[in-house]
Amino acid sequence: VMRRLQQTEKLAAIGEMSAFVAHEIRNPLFAIGGFANALLKQQNLNEDDTKKIKIIYNESKRLEKILKIILNFARPAHGDEGEVDVNEIILEALGLLRMKFESQGGKVITNLDAKGIKVRGNPDQLKQCVINGIKNGFEAMPNGGTMRVETTLSADNWIIVRIIDSGEGIPDDIREHLFNPFFTTKSGGTGLGLAMTKKIVEDMGGKVKLRSRVNKGTTLSFYLPPLSLVPPANNEKDTDGVVEPS
Ligand code: ADP
Ligand code: MG
Repeated sequence: VMRRLQQTEKLAAIGEMSAFVAHEIRNPLFAIGGFANALLKQQNLNEDDTKKIKIIYNESKRLEKILKIILNFARPAHGDEGEVDVNEIILEALGLLRMKFESQGGKVITNLDAKGIKVRGNPDQLKQCVINGIKNGFEAMPNGGTMRVETTLSADNWIIVRIIDSGEGIPDDIREHLFNPFFTTKSGGTGLGLAMTKKIVEDMGGKVKLRSRVNKGTTLSFYLPPLSLVPPANNEKDTDGVVEPS
């Protein structure tokens, strides 16, 4: 038990440390991006310099995205965890994202059969996982397509979330890298979406699966355990120094 505790504390310390580092990096990074942007507005630049400054600007924007993810990830403290209605989270996430896709001719179909089903976790983090999955799907369908989002219950009451796109699919040779932090095939990508999603879902006691066929599409699935299988996390503030009767 002691060793587990130390590991948890270490992880928490690393989380706080990365949030601190991310904060420190943010201001200089804003300056770099801001001045690159200001330089781009100058009239007297030749083509070659413009290209170089554009790279500085675009890369600083990419780093800003990475920082935002790290800060969001490190921020949720103990006690932010609770019972979360999965369908509600999905509808909130879709609400933020679907308009742009639909205005480009894309179609979104929802089949949220697991009505009112709750899981234990941090709502913001779960929403982030759903957003990551939906965004990846939309990004795989730049010329439109169909996005399906489904929730179902398995025979043993696990809740299954499926995010299904009809996009470009994933070639076999990169399959093994997809969940590595910072692995991306996109020019403005962070490569943190799937890595964070896996970490969050597994911390909830769940599993992530990805199936894909090139030019057919990709299905990202989350398997989340029913509430009865995940006891509430100890709220340290409330239980500090209190011995529970057994
Ligand atoms: P990012 O989206 O920033 O690249 P992710 O971790 O979300 O980072 O995804 C990593 C990589 O996995 C993507 O760059 C892409 O190559 C691949 N990928 C993930 N989801 C899909 C999808 N639905 N369709 C096609 N490729 C995908
Ligand atoms: Mg992504």
